[in-house]
Amino acid sequence: MPKSLVLIQPSPERHWVGDGFPVRNVFGYNDLGKELLSPWLMFDYAAPYSFHAATQRRGVGVHPHRGFETVTVVYEGELEHRDSGGGGGRIGPGDVQWMTAANGIVHEEFHSSEFTRTGGVLHMAQLWVNLPRSQKRIPPAYQGLLDGEIPTVALPGGATARLIAGTIGDTPGAARTATPMILWDVTLPAGSNVTLPAADGWTLAVFVIDGEARAADGRTLGREHLGVFSREGADATVSCDAACRLLVLGGEPIAEPVVGYGPFVMNSREEILEAFQDYEAGRMGQLA
Ligand code: MN
Repeated sequence: MPKSLVLIQPSPERHWVGDGFPVRNVFGYNDLGKELLSPWLMFDYAAPYSFHAATQRRGVGVHPHRGFETVTVVYEGELEHRDSGGGGGRIGPGDVQWMTAANGIVHEEFHSSEFTRTGGVLHMAQLWVNLPRSQKRIPPAYQGLLDGEIPTVALPGGATARLIAGTIGDTPGAARTATPMILWDVTLPAGSNVTLPAADGWTLAVFVIDGEARAADGRTLGREHLGVFSREGADATVSCDAACRLLVLGGEPIAEPVVGYGPFVMNSREEILEAFQDYEAGRMGQLA
């Protein structure tokens, strides 16, 4: 039995994160990210937005994270990042930054100097993915996944999938992950369909980046809509009349309590208070 579509949700109004990221909060750890979409906690989507040339980099200054990983996907434009674990770099179209905050990190996220100087279109997404209790306090880590390092597979029906994380067939995704999960950038040509492989019991959702998609039950997912499938059943088929592009996310749920506050996501209130104390005391590091 295939998975069935259980929820279609349009994206809420846009808001700004710092002065650099005009995002729609597709979901967060207090709503769908609390349990339904586990291991995924949060998803901010910035549709293509044109920035004028400037002299001051736009973005978000130094702030901490603990207890999860941040995953930044760039479709267009260029970002620069620096963190207290020594991770950092510049990511452009097709690149993905996978930052494991784990025990604690402070970082900054800005448009790149070059992009700031020239101006241009920024199109990106940032997702937060949970860590299991056993890995929330391990040392931080950083994976810069360049476009060329992300495997692309051609699927029956005509679609192509870029495997940021999670295996299709015998091709593993680019990222090392704490728990088994899916993050695929899937492009469908006009009049095609794709069967997304996801195990019985796993989370599976699709977000429409471009065009319109149709679920097997005939319902339409419009642009910037999130479609969530049932945990029960295996795999789900999606089709497109005109060309479309999907961000597919899923994975094995982490069956542990989610308690989030601002930039920290732990398993209890006590651990959140401890995170604030550790940050205030400088125990999440400093930016050089
Ligand atoms: Mn951040």
